[in-house]
Amino acid sequence: MTKCPECDAEIKIAEDAMEGEIVTCPDCGASYEIIKSGTVFDLRPAQSIGEDWGE
Ligand SMILES: [Zn+2]
Repeated sequence: MTKCPECDAEIKIAEDAMEGEIVTCPDCGASYEIIKSGTVFDLRPAQSIGEDWGE
């Protein structure tokens, strides 16, 4: 089971999920991009890529 790097909540990823899909933590609402490495999934923070919040 994949866990949220931020809050350790379980994040369910479909077995047929595709690399590059975005999942959202049900607990803290953080968004992650799915990275597939072999048969396991990794998560990479998907923080406002391509967006500029002006800070
Ligand atoms: Zn979380």
